[in-house]
Amino acid sequence: MQVLIVEDEIPLANEVRSYLEKEGFSCDEAHTGHVASDKLFSNNYDLLLLDLGLPDYDGIDLLKESVTNNSNTAVIILSARSALEDRIKGLNFGADDYLPKPFSLLELKSRIMAVMRRKHGIRANIITVNNLEIDLDKRLVFSGGIPVALTRKEYDILSFLILNKNRVVTRLQISEHIWGDIIEENYNSNYIDVHIKNLRKKLSEFIEGEFLETVRGIGFQFVAGD
Ligand code: CA
Repeated sequence: MQVLIVEDEIPLANEVRSYLEKEGFSCDEAHTGHVASDKLFSNNYDLLLLDLGLPDYDGIDLLKESVTNNSNTAVIILSARSALEDRIKGLNFGADDYLPKPFSLLELKSRIMAVMRRKHGIRANIITVNNLEIDLDKRLVFSGGIPVALTRKEYDILSFLILNKNRVVTRLQISEHIWGDIIEENYNSNYIDVHIKNLRKKLSEFIEGEFLETVRGIGFQFVAGD
């Protein structure tokens, strides 16, 4: 999951980033509104953590840009402005949640998980599909209680496909979700195919039939049974 942290207090931005990265999120930072605006324009983030009080930009304007350019990006406002008016304004302009500063990192993570659950219409942090249980909080996959050993990238791709089950997910969406605009050294789009191939092989021990469909020229689809 790709997160953009917009925060002009650099130590706080770094602290949030290192915590979220340890929890398995991919993060990008913007310390000014203008940099954030450029990044929002050229990337599809899953989540925007937005400080409203930026020196060069009105945070509410960034929120509006995010909602207009990318309605799929969830937004949580992180702001010292605890005034009721700002909170209501943020929510009215399309933010999904609001967390006043100072906040605990644990609470931030719970809010993120809750927002992502709402976004994907699920109620709990554990999804059950096709004989698999995916624990989104712990980033683990089980089948009949047996852990399925996946690499970090395999987990990221599988959970992304499952959250979008029965919908075609394009290669571009997958690479943006997994790699963001930080393209790793030696990146090549065949990596996705390699990961998908490994996932099919690992999961075939637990699921019968074709569940990770290749949609020629477009991408992939996780086919969920009842
Ligand atoms: Ca600030």
